[in-house]
Amino acid sequence: MTKSTLLAVNGIDKFYDDFHVIKSVSFALEEGEIGCLLGPSGCGKTTLLRAIAGFEDIAKGSISIGGSVVAGTAFAAPEKRNIGMVFQDYALFPHLSVGDNVAFGLSDMPAVERVKRVADLLVTVGLEGENIKFPHELSGGQQQRVALARALAPEPKLLLMDEPFSNLDVALRESLSIEIRHILKARNITALMVTHNQNEAFAMADKVGVLSCGAMQQWDTPHGVYHRPVNTTVAGFVGEGVFIRGEVKEPNTVECALGTLKGALPEACHLGCEVSVLIRPEDIVHDDESAFGAVIIAKTFRGPNILYVLRLDNGEEVQALVPSHHQHAMGQRIGIYQDVEDLVIFPAGSDFSPADQCEL
Ligand code: ATP
Repeated sequence: MTKSTLLAVNGIDKFYDDFHVIKSVSFALEEGEIGCLLGPSGCGKTTLLRAIAGFEDIAKGSISIGGSVVAGTAFAAPEKRNIGMVFQDYALFPHLSVGDNVAFGLSDMPAVERVKRVADLLVTVGLEGENIKFPHELSGGQQQRVALARALAPEPKLLLMDEPFSNLDVALRESLSIEIRHILKARNITALMVTHNQNEAFAMADKVGVLSCGAMQQWDTPHGVYHRPVNTTVAGFVGEGVFIRGEVKEPNTVECALGTLKGALPEACHLGCEVSVLIRPEDIVHDDESAFGAVIIAKTFRGPNILYVLRLDNGEEVQALVPSHHQHAMGQRIGIYQDVEDLVIFPAGSDFSPADQCEL
């Protein structure tokens, strides 16, 4: 472990009776880094977070926080792990004022210092002077800010957040996730968050962990999981896209129905290799001037954009995200060109694996 690693999860396994819920999961967070665990429902995100918090035991491997083993060869109880937690349902004490909620974990602190800490934190989370209100007098977003202030009050080494924004409306989710990232970064707090929502994960995280069926598929930057997915499970879960067939005709060159695509190929792909090429909606650009065309077979209005499903001349389908002032009818043939910046290919026949087909 390097000196600045704050959280290290090494090869942990977890079972509920015979159910193998966490499978040899490893990852690490450097001090001040924010990580997000992303994955389909039931893939084990909350269980992993709870194991780090100390609410679940592990069958194998180890967890270290700040260089001390807290699970594995040694065990530290949750209250000894120096962590703060924020939950989906805020979990504020309804009978305590905002100030008393934030002060809850500070009973050992001298009163003057405690009052100052609470006031400072309420400023940090944008609730200056709201300390005498009660939770029921606040909106959901404000309650979650109080929950964050309460979790930060004892100055934990590690902040764990379990779907903290899922009870909030969509607009607030994104703005609060950006704001909380700023707060955590300003205080150099290491944090791990569980979410279903990719936009939240991308807005918050330095590192994203994509879990599927209890296994860590990829632990990488948001850019990495999106543009360099390591397998079809990650490619299928993160972002949108479809696979089309391709063939390696020259070094670092793939021929497919969209023409010639260039980019680094995996070592296993030699000349003549048949591959599946990931095409994201933003890889297809609508251009009336283009000689290359495709037929619209489905469309979904998304406000600023329309997601078109297009049939290519060889029968394969791709998606295209087109500004919604370009309205086109079903069945219409439109001009397109490919603008594939990051070539993502897998051996031919790869398909998105359904997340519900986990081998137990
Ligand atoms: P979601 O996104 O829906 O919250 P998740 O990825 O957080 O899901 P977990 O809550 O970690 O998933 O659950 C992982 C699996 O373990 C699920 O199949 C769940 O049914 C099962 N599970 C969770 N808690 C227990 C438990 N206490 N006993 C037995 N099985 C459990």
